[in-house]
Amino acid sequence: MDFVFTDDEEAMRASVQAFIAEHITDEVRKELADAHAGMGKGPQLRALQEEIYRRGWLAISWPKEYGGQGGATVTQYIVEEEFVRACDMRVGGGGTGGPAILASGTEQQKREYLPAASQLQITFCQGYSEPHCGTDLAALRCRAIRKGDKYVINGQKIYTTNAQNATHIFLLARTNPDSRRQAGLSVFLVPMNTPGITVRPLWTIQNDPKAPPNTTYGESRTNEVFFDDVEVPASCLLGEEGDGWSVTQRGLNLDRVGAWRYLMSVRRTEDIVNLLKSGDDRVAGLRNDPAVRDKIADLWTEAQMCRLMTMRSISISSRGGKFVSEGAAEKVTGPEHGVRATEAISQILGPYAEQLSSSPEAIESGVYAHNLQGAFQSTVNHGSVQVMRDQIARKGLGMPKPPSAAKPRRDVASV
Ligand SMILES: Cc1cc2nc3c(=O)[nH]c(=O)nc-3n(C[C@H](O)[C@H](O)[C@H](O)COP(=O)(O)OP(=O)(O)OC[C@H]3O[C@@H](n4cnc5c(N)ncnc54)[C@H](O)[C@@H]3O)c2cc1C
Repeated sequence: MDFVFTDDEEAMRASVQAFIAEHITDEVRKELADAHAGMGKGPQLRALQEEIYRRGWLAISWPKEYGGQGGATVTQYIVEEEFVRACDMRVGGGGTGGPAILASGTEQQKREYLPAASQLQITFCQGYSEPHCGTDLAALRCRAIRKGDKYVINGQKIYTTNAQNATHIFLLARTNPDSRRQAGLSVFLVPMNTPGITVRPLWTIQNDPKAPPNTTYGESRTNEVFFDDVEVPASCLLGEEGDGWSVTQRGLNLDRVGAWRYLMSVRRTEDIVNLLKSGDDRVAGLRNDPAVRDKIADLWTEAQMCRLMTMRSISISSRGGKFVSEGAAEKVTGPEHGVRATEAISQILGPYAEQLSSSPEAIESGVYAHNLQGAFQSTVNHGSVQVMRDQIARKGLGMPKPPSAAKPRRDVASV
């Protein structure tokens, strides 16, 4: 097994790093922070995204006929890794919409959505969770009932991140009102400007006070989305009617792995190592403290394990393979490492590192305290670590279902 990148791949990484050094200016960082805070994209950020697109870095591994570059998954991984590490920007073709349309869309849908998505003219938010169901997604109630050549949608979604900016919602709804659980669900690609859709902000813990730029999971806003007699053409259906559960699960598995997921978890460990290695006088005493050095070594070892698990997922994807429980394993190790790392960093840096951005005594504008607040979120979204462990036990290890008293439902999944 050889995890070393080829010379061409390293050259690609160097060219992305050089681009970032030149183009990710303080103004761009500020606009990125505003975008994370739900304030839309500024002109510098738009110009940067256009330049990234012109270089062909937005959908590297998608087929050329659908707006991609027909490149390797590993190249896409490298580009994504460098942008997330530098500025938390997710480029490279991951996310909910594109890969799921590639996997499940009709030829017409691929041609309609993917070239536009590869230029970020179409962006998706994820409409899975509802007020009464997140982990237990199969209990969802939002309905899409066929009437002639249309579907009429009624219901509510919650925690729909980026609904205020997205052009489309990737919606999971019940198409057969008599169905139970995951049978009778379907996925729709619904334009957000369709009459009858209302988006209301749902402010997160990172909003008051506002998380500073560069906070992991620093989004200050998610949303509630309401559907009142929303009519969409039947062509918005992705995959077959009633096949929404498997369409969704494929998309979720892809979202649980990759450079973005891995780096969001281990960036904090990289940051503290860099800080301790730097000439910063404030950490001179800590640098030589044996307890600190031990803790950092532990975190670094864990971070390498997370990286290797990501490499394995990239390798499986590159060979066209499917995940059994690898995505679930990555979704447990990365987020739990992120929580341990932010806790350890707070202990190492002391009480000032626990002050939020509103405190005049906060260090680094409160980023460490906001990272600590944000880290837990990743253990719940896209499949909570408890449910991922259940998948590893049953699908990965072939363990029997637990006895009925403690039995999780067969179709439990989450977003
Ligand atoms: C900031 C943020 C952004 C989000 N963005 C989106 C988004 O864009 N789109 C979207 O659709 N959703 C989004 N979500 C929703 C997220 O996916 C859900 O919060 C998640 O699925 C958990 O659902 P829940 O909140 O209903 O918690 P619950 O389902 O009530 O779970 C609470 C806890 O109970 C545990 N639990 C539940 N059932 C079981 C079981 N059977 N066995 C063992 N443990 C169990 C869970 O692991 C969890 O720890 C977001 C959430 C947050 C916080």
